[in-house]
Amino acid sequence: MPPITPRQPLKPLDEALVELLGHAAPSDKTETVSTFDADGRVLAEDLVAALDVPAHDNSSMDGYAVRSADWQNAETVLHVNQRIAAGSNGSVLAAMSAARIFTGAPIPDGADAVVMQEDCTTPGPEQVCVATQPQVGQWIRRRGEDVTSGRTVLPKGELLAPESIGLAASVGYAALRVVAPVRVALFSTGDELVMPGDVAPQDMLPGAIYNSNRFFLRALLQRLGCTVTDMGIVPDKLAATKEALLTASSAHDLVLTSGGVSVGEEDHIKPAVQALGQLNLWQIAIKPGKPFAYGKIQNAHFIGLPGNPVSSYVTFLLLVRPFIRQLQGVTRFAPESIAARADFDWTKADKRREFLRARRNSAGGLDLFVNQSSGVLTSAVWSDGLVDNPAGRTIARGDMVQFMPLSSLMF
Ligand code: AMP
Ligand code: MG
Repeated sequence: MPPITPRQPLKPLDEALVELLGHAAPSDKTETVSTFDADGRVLAEDLVAALDVPAHDNSSMDGYAVRSADWQNAETVLHVNQRIAAGSNGSVLAAMSAARIFTGAPIPDGADAVVMQEDCTTPGPEQVCVATQPQVGQWIRRRGEDVTSGRTVLPKGELLAPESIGLAASVGYAALRVVAPVRVALFSTGDELVMPGDVAPQDMLPGAIYNSNRFFLRALLQRLGCTVTDMGIVPDKLAATKEALLTASSAHDLVLTSGGVSVGEEDHIKPAVQALGQLNLWQIAIKPGKPFAYGKIQNAHFIGLPGNPVSSYVTFLLLVRPFIRQLQGVTRFAPESIAARADFDWTKADKRREFLRARRNSAGGLDLFVNQSSGVLTSAVWSDGLVDNPAGRTIARGDMVQFMPLSSLMF
């Protein structure tokens, strides 16, 4: 019998996160991708505008460009002597004249207002009358009101989204320098694990369970833009665990495993990582998700998540996601935490900080999933966020609590 390890003091989550992030030196590997393909990537350099956007004052309406001082009354007739469509250029607007103009077309010199066509009448060919006094600047989009030349429109470390690649394109970038994907090797441990498809539900032996962690961990990693090498299931044997870890540590930035991080006799992650590199095994003061391991094997980071599906899921969101974001050089990745009203009671205070699976209701409050067990994956599916409940705290209906929306924990 191996000696029983004495109980470790629990580590506060914030301390664990700071320590973990202390190991996540941002990657300096970059690549160039088409701006079309840059959604979800991380900018590796500041993006500086080399022009003003818009490049010229232009019309925000279909109508007439005028000189506001020409207007006397609704009978004042202006001579329409030019037509400026988007993509073309007009000439200087003479006194008592107007230019037929369309949305996006440059304002001709001399004009100081645009009148929308709905506010005009055309008493004769090439004539226009304006119903009310045009105000200087009306319906004109000013040069540089979106972007001024020389400005950094997107900083290094920006996580690119559809609107940001649109902005990059608006200042002329066809390709972007981005951080190379973080390469992650993923495997699950556990002799009880069976892959869906390998054994039909009615043929599952007692004690066997389908491997669910493999599916959501791989998907979460892919959502974060990682390149995933999925190594499948590794048996609960020391030699097999060591071999898998060694293979995984080459050509990967991060080795991520689930299960086997407790200190039971069938938990081989700890001795295997210790034999190959360094390991810190933490007992984090959170629920779900207490056991968590960080280490290094050769040049690769190692993170071992607990096996219970919800523990694995929550520790991924709270710890692995920020770790990966920092490796990618992302500058802003703290999840949102917003005050929300609990429309439920939570009567059992826990010694650990809890992350309760909850979802927003249409009355502006939060409902709680009935079963908060760390094995109940339906709780994660039902919820749209986590209530961050401090240690020792009960919650009464109507209390304000901190809520972390899943949307901000996944991207
Ligand atoms: P462990 O951390 O290996 O002690 O596992 C804790 C619990 O999580 C056990 O009930 C395991 O059967 C379960 N578990 C471990 N790995 C997985 C997995 N990949 N998918 C689903 N359940 C798992
Ligand atoms: Mg296990």
